[in-house]
Amino acid sequence: MTEVLRSALRVEPDVFALRQRGREVAAAVGLDGQDQVRIATALSELGRELLAAGGADVLMSVLDGPPALAIELRSIGPLPDAATPARAAAARLVDTLAVAHADGAAVVRLARRLPALPDPAALAALRATVATTVPATPLDELAAQNESLIAALDEVRRQRNDLTRLNAELQETNQGVLVLYGQLSAELEETNRGVVALYAELDDKTAQLRAASAAKSRFLANISHELRAPLTAVIGLSRMLTDHASDPLSADQVTQVTLIHDSARSLLVLVNDLLDLAKAEAGHLEPTWSDIDLVLLLGQLRGTLRAIGTRPGVELVIEDPPAGLAVRSDEALLGQVLRNLLTNGVKFTERGEVRLICAADGPDGVTFTVADTGIGIPADQQDRIFEDFYQIRGELQATVTGTGLGLPYARRLAGILGGGITVASTSGAGSTFTVRLPRSPAADPT
Ligand code: ADP
Repeated sequence: MTEVLRSALRVEPDVFALRQRGREVAAAVGLDGQDQVRIATALSELGRELLAAGGADVLMSVLDGPPALAIELRSIGPLPDAATPARAAAARLVDTLAVAHADGAAVVRLARRLPALPDPAALAALRATVATTVPATPLDELAAQNESLIAALDEVRRQRNDLTRLNAELQETNQGVLVLYGQLSAELEETNRGVVALYAELDDKTAQLRAASAAKSRFLANISHELRAPLTAVIGLSRMLTDHASDPLSADQVTQVTLIHDSARSLLVLVNDLLDLAKAEAGHLEPTWSDIDLVLLLGQLRGTLRAIGTRPGVELVIEDPPAGLAVRSDEALLGQVLRNLLTNGVKFTERGEVRLICAADGPDGVTFTVADTGIGIPADQQDRIFEDFYQIRGELQATVTGTGLGLPYARRLAGILGGGITVASTSGAGSTFTVRLPRSPAADPT
């Protein structure tokens, strides 16, 4: 705390002096013109009240901490407890005003925050001026007060003009915003209409697509069904022709008939695959749920795959399922899915092994993993191999038979069983297909 000024308030002219000193001190501690008038007016109001109560001693100082101008007016006589109009007016002009009563006297403390700690040299100069100059006469102070009043009135007029201008600007801006809002609303409405129309078109197209897909499935189902009978006949007849019981054929004829027989067989495989796929797509495959004997199912797979055979140097391992793993599903469809994956594994593996592992997947799921050490699938084709008829071109692929329908069919079947198939593969190192199924399907009515 730095003391700036002490003065006494005993007679009427002291009030004018206090007012003048207040303004000077306020200026010296760095308050602007308006704040100087505020401090002077507050002191003038309080000074008059304290003079009526017998006079007061005044101390003005600067507080550091948050910098502030603090003024203390210690009354000689008692002050009324209740707030007076003078105190209320003064309180509005400063940041804080407090009155403490003790021993028949009162201390009024008021403070105003300062923008920064004042320069000590300015305070010293002020102290020196105060010590050497005589306060102005009441007339001078009145003149100064008038000047402040005129300045304050000017300020009020300026502010009112500013306000009028701001109001006009605000009104203009509001109108602009309203226009913009209107435009945006109109645009939004138009966009919405467009989106609605687009959705309607999309719905239309979806319906058309669904109809086209259903027509395709129906066509495939019908045509494959129709083709099966003549194909079976061709296969049977060509086998009969080469049979020992028939008339012997020339070597050339045997070759040609064998060719007919093999071609018809390949065609039958394709037709059967197409028929299966069309059925699955058309939703005609209703699973028959039953508790699956995994040991039996995997045993049957072992038998079927052994009949197909693997290349020399490739081992087919079908691991026993974990004991007590209960799975409810459609045995025929699940067997078909696993057969397709194992057949692929065997087809596309030249050395190493193809392994099927069955395991629990959390409390409600089961996984069947078919992992091979074969040629693998490039990352950019791992999605495409599930598309109808998609086959990867390559040296090994050219030597094996296939329709490109095995994986799409397997994925559809897994879907019908309430699960799905994923693949992970590294080109040249092998592939792992994982079938995930619920242990007990939600669709099971029993
Ligand atoms: P395909 O009758 O040709 O086997 P799929 O739909 O079963 O038809 O498989 C599509 C293609 O995916 C295959 O032609 C092959 O290129 C690739 N593929 C499938 N399984 C494997 C695998 N285990 N290893 C490498 N490539 C595979």
